Amino acid sequence: MTFKELGIIEPILKALAEKGYTQPTPIQAQAIPVLLAGKDLLGSAQTGTGKTAAFTIPILQHLAEGAPPKKQRKIQVLIITPTRELAIQIDDNVKAYAKYTDIRSAVIFGGVKQASQVRTLKNGVDVLTATPGRLLDLINQGFVSLKNVNHFVLDEADQMLDMGFVHDIKKLLKKLPQERQSLFFSATMPKSIIDLSKQILGNFERVNI
Ligand code: AMP
Repeated sequence: MTFKELGIIEPILKALAEKGYTQPTPIQAQAIPVLLAGKDLLGSAQTGTGKTAAFTIPILQHLAEGAPPKKQRKIQVLIITPTRELAIQIDDNVKAYAKYTDIRSAVIFGGVKQASQVRTLKNGVDVLTATPGRLLDLINQGFVSLKNVNHFVLDEADQMLDMGFVHDIKKLLKKLPQERQSLFFSATMPKSIIDLSKQILGNFERVNI
């Protein structure tokens, strides 16, 4: 199995080749067709499995293939993750895979001054990776609108609940358009996580690694 056989488009293939990826990991081989088809996904996968590429590649492909919206530079993809380190890592992945497209991404997280994040947002962003607290702060100040989001990813959901982010996540959900593709990842799947996933996902496919 190759990325080309999975239907990945040339500009992204070129970026993957440059990263030295010769073939998809098992989670990528399973998740990419489901996500390219526009379906919601519940994934149980640890980091280190190639999970980040599994969700970013098909979403970037949707944007790259999409008609005019990408020119508007409105946030179409929102990726929520619990920590600054994970957020930076995800955005690094997005930037690498989007290198040969005109998709623009940014990352925001708490614990630092917001000014440079606000400047970046004002320039226009297609894909935003964020930690929940800072994102809500910037939404409440009017610097971020989620009304054009059509892809939503909740990463490391179990860690998110452990860190007490459940109310923040529920507040964010209320601000998202109903019409969207949603992805939900968690390393573990206790009942609290399954319950949360039901509030986020529509009809979904499950991928376990
Ligand atoms: P992740 O599970 O998303 O944190 O990815 C773990 C590591 O595997 C990262 O350093 C990725 O750059 C790398 N990686 C992801 N997909 C592939 C692939 N298909 N081939 C080789 N390395 C990969």
